Amino acid sequence: MSFKPISDIGEFGLIDRIAAIAAPTLDAAPGLIEGIGDDCAVYELSKSVLQLATTDLLLEHVHFDLLTTPLHHLGSKAISVNVSDICAMNAKPRYALVSIALPSKASIEFVETVYRGMSETARLYNTALAGGDTSASSAGVAISVMVAGEVEKKKISYRKGAQPGDLVCVTGSLGGAVAGLRVLMREKNIMLEHIKHGEPYDNDVMSNLSEYDEAIRRQLLPSARMDIIDFFHKQNIVPTSMIDISDGLASDLAHICKCSGVGAYIEESRIPIHSQTRHIADEFQEDAVNYALTGGEDYQLLFTLKTEQFAAIASHPDITVIGKITPEKESMLLCDIYGMNVDMKTIGGFDHFNHKK
Ligand code: ADP
Ligand code: MG
Repeated sequence: MSFKPISDIGEFGLIDRIAAIAAPTLDAAPGLIEGIGDDCAVYELSKSVLQLATTDLLLEHVHFDLLTTPLHHLGSKAISVNVSDICAMNAKPRYALVSIALPSKASIEFVETVYRGMSETARLYNTALAGGDTSASSAGVAISVMVAGEVEKKKISYRKGAQPGDLVCVTGSLGGAVAGLRVLMREKNIMLEHIKHGEPYDNDVMSNLSEYDEAIRRQLLPSARMDIIDFFHKQNIVPTSMIDISDGLASDLAHICKCSGVGAYIEESRIPIHSQTRHIADEFQEDAVNYALTGGEDYQLLFTLKTEQFAAIASHPDITVIGKITPEKESMLLCDIYGMNVDMKTIGGFDHFNHKK
């Protein structure tokens, strides 16, 4: 028997294989509406209420680096990235279960600081830290969070549901998280060089980097857009489809298009990019739009809306229309600033298994 490395098929290919093996179990839960494939699993709690569940794993050396990550921020991010998946379905979080694996040399203060970050952030989202699991680890710190949420059946938004003619909208601005990561990794290398040569290094990383503070904040301390969900519920807006941007605009829009069986037409000039991000991309001689398309971890919401609902979002200062949904045969096109159409399917997101950008 020959073994194929995971890198041959990447993360999404691997999830497809797992989904095929899990499929026969789905009958075991008759109320299960959505299994693998959307931002959350969805379960019918009653005739009118749905329950949602999502989980995300943060691993030291893969998702975070303790040299550049304040512990309080780490705890906060672990909660926010999960709540973001609940938001992506137009739902509200209720409680979280947190599992943590720690090397035995980790201090009590370390754990308490991480949990204070989690607790303060969970309270912002009206979410209870209601349990979890603790284990020793022989290879760094691992934090796995599961969040359960709820939504009225008539308000839920899936990744499927976008139709030709719908507007494509995005919240906030994109690219900041990867821009912040670039700066942090550069600083880490400078720090290591100093240590290697026995030179003094000003340990206060954050004050060295104050001109990049907003981008770094987006990397270390992202927020879930619960404020947008509150706005949607107040205005009776139900997006025809929605996803949170964890992998990059190109990759996450591709999920909406694939699940909905549609194409999309996006105008590059409309993609909101933070000004600090442009400045950082220039420093690294990279393209800020590419950060937005492939960087990921921005945790903004990408959604589609019936054109009739445009008036309801038009006055919101933090929602931008970036394009429209088209028939599937028209593919996913990006109209660049010169008016040339680029096929967005050729733009890949970050994949931890093959490190392709
Ligand atoms: P997100 O970026 O929104 O967190 P992912 O890309 O991690 O979503 O996952 C996509 C879908 O695949 C989700 O429905 C998730 O529950 C499912 N999934 C991911 N990894 C696994 C796994 N190891 N086993 C079962 N389902 C998985
Ligand atoms: Mg998601």
